[in-house]
Amino acid sequence: MNEKLVQFLPKAELHCHLDGSVPINTLNKLALKTKINQQQLAKVQAPAKCQNLAEYLESFDIILKMLQTTENLEIATFSVIEAAAQENVRYLELRFAPLLHLDQGLSIREVIEAVCSGINKAQKTIPIHVNLLICAMRNHSETDNLALLNQIKGLNEKKIVGFDFAGDEAKVDNQKVAPVVQKAIKNGLEVTLHSGECGCSHNVLEAIHLGAKRIGHGVAIKDDTEAIAICRKQEILLELCPTSNIQTDAIQNWQHYPLQLFLANKIKCCINTDNRTVSNTNLTQEFLKLVQYCDLTISQMAELTLNAVQFSFASNELKMELINEIKQAYRPHIKEI
Ligand SMILES: [Zn+2]
Repeated sequence: MNEKLVQFLPKAELHCHLDGSVPINTLNKLALKTKINQQQLAKVQAPAKCQNLAEYLESFDIILKMLQTTENLEIATFSVIEAAAQENVRYLELRFAPLLHLDQGLSIREVIEAVCSGINKAQKTIPIHVNLLICAMRNHSETDNLALLNQIKGLNEKKIVGFDFAGDEAKVDNQKVAPVVQKAIKNGLEVTLHSGECGCSHNVLEAIHLGAKRIGHGVAIKDDTEAIAICRKQEILLELCPTSNIQTDAIQNWQHYPLQLFLANKIKCCINTDNRTVSNTNLTQEFLKLVQYCDLTISQMAELTLNAVQFSFASNELKMELINEIKQAYRPHIKEI
């Protein structure tokens, strides 16, 4: 598989953070607007190898300073979607944490409406389907996260299809955020949780126990046969983000990336960028690296793409439409699809 083919084939992405994926040229414009020294933008791409997740997350500080107005949020959202569509991502689940955008007085409602407005604007002119996941942060208080859930419920926004917890799971694991997750499920939201990103497979099991159908990353289960068996049996999807996992040292290097281990064990997974800009990647590059280092085949790329659609939080109607489109595009390359 060459770059041209990987870019051409229709793709779907379920794990993409808005703030970490704003294209550099857009960040440059936003920096001018917000009077932020352009030199500070040098820090937005995380080092190829960080000491840990916390160091990786430092890149977000400067980006978040530029995403505190409704106008900037809308511009950022539009440009992330535009960039994804340019490499033929046909379905994108964008996620973001509203509580990180309140520093200059915006309300949760205003923040979410700005992002939804960016999505709606993009969908009018760009051929891509986009849904939104709301992230709560592990370092925020239970009261604040429950208030966030109440706001989401009140909005009745169709684009919001799921709920997630992001942040440092080593400090605040899923057991500690259980009441908020349970409330999200009660409110009718689908749940995916960042878990098993820092060597803690117990947190993946806890996420499943709480009702998560998908796991953000989940790579920590690679050394835990019991967790692998549970994920297989319960058909839990792992949203794998290879470059990011290597940067945060969740996985040592590309040669050790456990994709083939997961596929051999019939674990459902899909491939994602996590943060297109902070990780300096896109979905095409993620697949190409997997071809180069993990012997990814075109049939496996099709399987991973179909997994993403099947486990997405999109409507059944849209899933069917996307599955047909993906199969049709792959047909000249794979006999049985
Ligand atoms: Zn993530």
